[in-house]
Amino acid sequence: MSEYNSDLNTPIQYIKGVGPKRADALNKASIQTVNDLLHYYPRRYLDRSTVKSIKDIQINDAVTIIGNVEVCGERRTRKGKLFQAVLSDGTGLTTLVWFNGVKYIKNSIKKGDRLAVHGKIEFYNSLQIVHPDYDKLDSDADPLNTGAIIALYPLSAELKRAKLEHHSFRRIINSIDSFILSATDHLDESITKEEGLISLRRALKGIHFPKSNRDLEASIQRLKFDEHFFLQLLMFIRKSSFEKISTKSLTESGPQVDMIIDELGFELTGAQKRVIQEIKNDIAKNIAMNRLLQGDVGSGKTIVAIIAAVTAVTNGVQAAIMAPTEILAHQHYKSFTKQLNKVHINCALLVGKQKTADRKKILSAIENGMINVVVGTHALIQKDVKFNNLGFVVVDEQHRFGVVQRGDLLEKGLHPHLLAMTATPIPRTMAITYHGDMDLSIIDEMPKDRMAVTTKVVDENRMVKVYKFIIDEIAAGRQCMVVYPLVEETEKSDLAAATEGFENLEKQFNGLNVGLIHGRIKKDDKDGIMESFAKNEINILVATTVIEVGIDVPNASVMLVEHAERFGLTQLHQLRGRVGRGSAKSYCILVERNVTPMSRRRLKIMENTNDGFIIADEDLKMRGPGRFFSTEQRGFFKYKIADMVNDGPIIRSARKAAQKIVKEDPLLEKHFLMRERLLKEYAQYLDTVNIT
Ligand code: ADP
Ligand code: MG
Repeated sequence: MSEYNSDLNTPIQYIKGVGPKRADALNKASIQTVNDLLHYYPRRYLDRSTVKSIKDIQINDAVTIIGNVEVCGERRTRKGKLFQAVLSDGTGLTTLVWFNGVKYIKNSIKKGDRLAVHGKIEFYNSLQIVHPDYDKLDSDADPLNTGAIIALYPLSAELKRAKLEHHSFRRIINSIDSFILSATDHLDESITKEEGLISLRRALKGIHFPKSNRDLEASIQRLKFDEHFFLQLLMFIRKSSFEKISTKSLTESGPQVDMIIDELGFELTGAQKRVIQEIKNDIAKNIAMNRLLQGDVGSGKTIVAIIAAVTAVTNGVQAAIMAPTEILAHQHYKSFTKQLNKVHINCALLVGKQKTADRKKILSAIENGMINVVVGTHALIQKDVKFNNLGFVVVDEQHRFGVVQRGDLLEKGLHPHLLAMTATPIPRTMAITYHGDMDLSIIDEMPKDRMAVTTKVVDENRMVKVYKFIIDEIAAGRQCMVVYPLVEETEKSDLAAATEGFENLEKQFNGLNVGLIHGRIKKDDKDGIMESFAKNEINILVATTVIEVGIDVPNASVMLVEHAERFGLTQLHQLRGRVGRGSAKSYCILVERNVTPMSRRRLKIMENTNDGFIIADEDLKMRGPGRFFSTEQRGFFKYKIADMVNDGPIIRSARKAAQKIVKEDPLLEKHFLMRERLLKEYAQYLDTVNIT
C-alpha cells in the first residue's frame, strides 16, 4: 500500500501491522475501515496527574493507581473461590480481589505485571479494591515513565486474543497519521468558529494522542458535538420532509367544540387551552401535523384529544384514536362517547376481541363514513379496516408503538394529521433528541382542583399500620390498588408474586372484596375485573404491572406498591398517577423491602416531589439513558462519545447549527460531506426521507 494513500474507506486489513487475524477481530468489533478505527474512541486515559500514590489514598476514594503485581493467587473461602493480587507502587500496597470469574482473571494476571487499576478503595484487613477495572500496561504505556496522557481502548476478549492491546491500537493509529491529515472536515468553518470547536483533524489526533488535558477536552467536545449534530441534522431533515406532505387543511371549528367545552363541568387549564390552540393552528395548514403532546399523568390529555378530534370531524373527516391496550381503548371509548354523544358524533370501538358480526357492522360503517370517530387498539391497523376519509389520527402512549404501527395507521388515510401523546415526561434535551422531528406541545399545568397525592415510603415493619389505614379508607367508601413487581421478566413469576400477595391480602382484609388481575388473565376476564373495580364492587385490586398506564378510577384513593425499590422512578410515578383523580385526598404507599442506600435515595425523591419532569430527570441521571429508555426506544441509536445526561449545552448548540443548515439546504446538496456521512451512518433513520 502506498504511504500516501489517504482514503478513509480503506479496509483495515491493508494497514501495516494488521494481518488477516487482527482484521478479523477488528471487524468483529465493527471496525472495518480506517475511518472506523479513527472513530474507535479510547474508553479511558491515564494521566500522571490523575494517578494516585497508594500512600495518599483513602477509604471510599475512587482512584486510579499504577503498580506491579507482587504476589497473586487463588484462595478458597467458605463462600467459594476468590482471586487476590497484591499491587505495589513503591509507596504502599493494595489488595485487588475478584470473587467470580476467577479462572479468567487467573489466566490474565501474573506476578510482575504492571497494572493500572481503577476502583473504589475499601478496607478489609488491608486496603483493597473489589473487582477493579484494570488495564495491563506495557513499557510505553506508563504515564509515570513517559509523562504523557495515554489512551486506553475498549478491548473485547476477541481483540485480546488477536493480541490487540492498548499499545497495539496506539501503534496502528499512529501509523495512519497520514489518514488523519487527510480527513476533510464536514463542518463548515462558520460553524466551528461560532461554536468554538477545533477542527476534525485536531480532534481525531487529540482523542487518541492528547498533548494536554486541554487538548483532550477540546477533542472530546468536538467529537461529541459531531454526534449530536448529525442526529439533529437527521431530525430536521425528517421534519422538513414531513413538512412537504401536503394534506387537507382543517380550518372549520364547528359549534360542537364549544358545546362540549361549555358542558365539561370544569374549566380547561391554561396549558390545555394553549395546546388545543397549537393543534388547531397546525391542522388549519395544508401540511400534515406531526405533533407530540407531552403531559404528566392526570394532566388531562384525553379531553385535548377529544376536542381536537371533534374539530377534525366538523371539517368532514374521520378521526382515529389508537391505544396500546384493550383496557385503555375501552376507557378512551367511554370518555369519547360521553362527550361525542352530546353533539351527535358517531363513535365506534374497535378491539381484537369482538364478535365477527359486530366487527363486520363496524367495519362497513367506518368504510362508508357513518362512523366519525374510531377508538381502538392495534385492531385499527388490520388490513380489513378501511376508512372513508381518515384525516386525523391520535396515538396514545406513543412510545408503546413502533414507528411501523404508527405509520400503518397513518396510511389508512391520505396523509392525516398526527397527534401523538405520551405521559412519560422526558427531559427537554432528550425530547429534542428522540423526538426532534416532531413539534412538541407540553401540558405543564395540573387541573386546579387536583389535590397532590401524599407519598410515604414504609418498611415492612409498618405493614400492620398500613393495612389498618387501607381498611379505614375503604370504610370511608374509597378503593385501593396493590401492585407487585415482575420478579423476573417471565409471566410465571409475575403470576406467583401477585397470587401469593393476593392470598395474603385476602386474609388481611377478611370480609372485603379483593380482586386479582395479572398478565395471564384473559382479556375478557380482565375487562370484567376492571369493570367491577370501576363500579366499586371490588374494594382492593391486586395487580402486577398490567395496571400501568391510563387506568382512570377516580374513587381509588390508595396506591400501595410492593417492593417499590424494584421499580424505576418513572414507573412509580406512573403508578402513583392512578390515584388522586377524584375529589378525595389520595395516598401512595411505597413498601421498601430490600433497603439499600440507592433505593433510599430514589424513593425519597418520590416522597419529595410530584413533578414528573423532576422525576424523569433524576431517573435519567441515576439509571443512565440506556436503562431509562430500555423498554421504550429499543434499538435506537447508540452514542460513541456523546451522552444525553451531561451534554445539554452541546445538544442545544448542535441543534441550532443543524437547523440552520437544513433551512438553507434541506437536501444537503451543498453539503456533500455531511450528506455522505448521514447516508452512511444513519441510513436506517432516513426511511421517510428523500435524500440520496
Ligand atoms: P391523562 O393526561 O393522564 O391522560 P386524563 O385525560 O385521563 O389524564 O385526565 C384525568 C382526569 O382529569 C379525567 O378524569 C379528566 O376528566 C379530568 N380533567 C381533565 N382536565 C381537567 C381540568 N381542566 N379540570 C379538572 N379536571 C380535568
Ligand atoms: Mg391518558
